Amino acid sequence: MMGRIFFFSFLIGTGALLMAALQIGIVTPLMGEPYQASMFVNAVIGCYSIGTPVAFYCLRQNHLLKGVMGELEKAHAQLAEAHEQLSEKASRDDMTGFLNRENFFSVMETTRRTITHGAMLIVDADHFKKINDTWGHLKGDEALLLITNAIRKSLRNGDFVGRIGGEEFAVFLPGASERDAIAVGERIRTSVELLEFRPDGEIVPLTVSIGGATAGKEPTTSQLMRAADLRLYDAKRNGRNCTLMTTELVSAAPTGKSVTAANNMAA
Ligand code: GH3
Ligand code: MG
Ligand code: MG
Repeated sequence: MMGRIFFFSFLIGTGALLMAALQIGIVTPLMGEPYQASMFVNAVIGCYSIGTPVAFYCLRQNHLLKGVMGELEKAHAQLAEAHEQLSEKASRDDMTGFLNRENFFSVMETTRRTITHGAMLIVDADHFKKINDTWGHLKGDEALLLITNAIRKSLRNGDFVGRIGGEEFAVFLPGASERDAIAVGERIRTSVELLEFRPDGEIVPLTVSIGGATAGKEPTTSQLMRAADLRLYDAKRNGRNCTLMTTELVSAAPTGKSVTAANNMAA
């Protein structure tokens, strides 16, 4: 690189010399003076001893500055990437990789603004305290991860899920009808039922209860959440391991208009 800079500095010095020679060629006869060799010698010395070093200095500074700017741009890009990774990490639950509670509801709010209807499911692991009490918290974590995988596998493109409590998850299904929501809920429920959780060799059954609500534009997200939560409560009372839906929520009525049940026997 230094060779290139020196070459261009030399070219600039030579350019300056050509200009100086042109000037001498025009100005000297105009002033009626004879040409003198010293004029050209001075031009050569001036251009190469001043012009070339000054050009060299400027070009070199420019080159160094470009290097610094490049480094700065690289550092800036790395910082932006780290920032993106950090905010992505902060928006997710460490253990399951699902959206955390706060971010789930914020994504749900944003999504609902762009669609006319959708459904929400709340999925809660059944008798999970007993799993922990019997097999210990670490095995409980294993069971929870199995359940989260079953939920993940059961979702459709565009659906998203958040961990809204210890063993409680919320799923939002943009554009889903009541039928779609029951289908997804049942897919989750049966996938969990089929899991092979073996804390001590033998399979220990895992189940979830699911409460859901479908809604158009009108109800607020907290009304939707409340309706789904009430259906989850009903599902627990109904014997657990079932999916209960509240159909199209059009007002703030706590339990919605009507009720549809799809449980493991009836489905
Ligand atoms: P229900 O069927 O009524 O939901 O009963 P439950 O035992 O699941 O409900 P409860 O709310 O009484 O207990 C929830 C349990 O889930 C207690 C808590 O220790 C456990 N839990 C919550 N988060 C985690 C976790 O990250 N890991 C483990 N191992 N257990 C968890
Ligand atoms: Mg539970
Ligand atoms: Mg719970």
